[in-house]
Amino acid sequence: MPTGLLAVSYIGASILFILSLGGLSHQKTARRGNLYGIAGMVVAIAATALAKDVTGYEILIPAILVGGLIGAVVALRVEMTGMPQLVGMLNSLVGLAAVLVAIASHLSPPTDLNPAEFTILAVEIYLSVLIGTVTFTGSLIAFAKLQGLLSGRPLLLPGRNVVNITALLVLLWLAYEYLAVQTSGVSLLNLLPVSNVALIHKALADTGLLALLLAVIVASLIGVHFVLAIGGADMPVVVSVLNSYSGWAAAATGFMLGNDLLIVTGALVGSSGAILSYIMCRAMNRSFLNVILGGFGTEGGAVVEGEHGDAVATSTQDTAQLLANAKSVIIVPGYGMAVAQAQGAVSDLTGRLRKQGVKVRFAIHPVAGRLPGHMNVLLADARVPYDIVLEMDDINRDFPDTDAVLVIGANDIVNPGALENPNSPIAGMPVLEVWHAGTVIVLKRSMATGYAGVENPLFFKDNTQMLFGDAKDSIQAVVGQLAG
Ligand code: NDP
Repeated sequence: MPTGLLAVSYIGASILFILSLGGLSHQKTARRGNLYGIAGMVVAIAATALAKDVTGYEILIPAILVGGLIGAVVALRVEMTGMPQLVGMLNSLVGLAAVLVAIASHLSPPTDLNPAEFTILAVEIYLSVLIGTVTFTGSLIAFAKLQGLLSGRPLLLPGRNVVNITALLVLLWLAYEYLAVQTSGVSLLNLLPVSNVALIHKALADTGLLALLLAVIVASLIGVHFVLAIGGADMPVVVSVLNSYSGWAAAATGFMLGNDLLIVTGALVGSSGAILSYIMCRAMNRSFLNVILGGFGTEGGAVVEGEHGDAVATSTQDTAQLLANAKSVIIVPGYGMAVAQAQGAVSDLTGRLRKQGVKVRFAIHPVAGRLPGHMNVLLADARVPYDIVLEMDDINRDFPDTDAVLVIGANDIVNPGALENPNSPIAGMPVLEVWHAGTVIVLKRSMATGYAGVENPLFFKDNTQMLFGDAKDSIQAVVGQLAG
């Protein structure tokens, strides 16, 4: 493909990616945004593969086919509840790719560079390795936490800030070492005591590879430690921060390879992820700086002791009666609605109540479920009208004027302890203040805690009743009662 056509294709793909992001920012245009993204990626891959200096099609074509097949199978098989883990896993692959490409560039750098260009390349390689490694290991830990393979509780190492700062200083020293050996061929590593693997050591140190591999090890530990130190309720921001890191890792790779499209795409992912992280931090009343430095939301927190009192159970008949007699109802969906796949039944219930003249609205907390926009996607999929689905800030004041609230598989996002108990691990996080409504019905299977592992005093309030059971079964039974 001629260079001019390649440049035009790259500009076209960049525009499609920008249109895609714009489309994805609103439910009505999300489908179109997704299509723009797919088209942009097809143009990008085709143009890159057909560029004039590309060779090795015997590897490239099978790699694209096998990768595409794996991606398609995984995407078709993943449940909505498994989406956050998938995002975590995909972020980790971007990080890994950045590290591998950087090491490959180190091993076989272009031969036609002048000294200044060579130094710039060395900086790009080192940055790619750093950002890529932190993204890779951090995302793997996030995946394990979201999948339940690792506990959601924060790991608080004694003196963890000292550990972080020491690791950063070591990385700075290794950066100096790497650049020194790349640009002048002289390295302090060569002065280390000669061991019985002296030859290998010297060969590696001479090429800077040893410094690079040591940086991979230290950055791996930083990535692992960064995510292990995060408390359960704070994971959404971390997933979004790692998503942003994966964008910057791709951008760094773009600089290294001199690929403008990769720079633009990486910067789009990096900056949109950073903006999303900032918005989520504000929604959760957290400091952005603390998230980036790790260990966020974990200081001074103690698990809340269970509030002693009795929870009152109710039945589907009584719930149906309550709803039929209500003038206004607010439904608060949470992660349990996704687990139970209850969105279709919830949509039926909404339609039936609206037909009977009940004002029904939905209240969406910014971190409900397990990924940003999780509840909006499920409700849109079940054809719940957009105009009755409201964000937390737009509906939180309306609970006192509401007759009944249905909390469907939500827990942390309706926990009054966040506002009332300064010792709660989720203290300060804004929540949906459902307890101000006339009656609150909580649909869940047991008295178990939610993702943050914190007891919920809402269950023991005088105006709260528990409707135990799988959310889908319960809602279908309520719809049956209303119909009968
Ligand atoms: P929670 O995890 O707090 O609570 C979900 C509740 O659903 C559980 O208490 C569970 O209770 C119930 N449940 C599970 N399965 C069913 C079922 N089949 N039928 C009925 N109920 C069920 O969810 P929330 O949405 O309230 O809060 C989200 C949490 O996840 C927050 O802590 C947030 O920080 C975190 N998070 C959010 C992310 C995001 O991007 N949105 C990403 C990562 C974490 P029981 O077992 O008794 O049924």
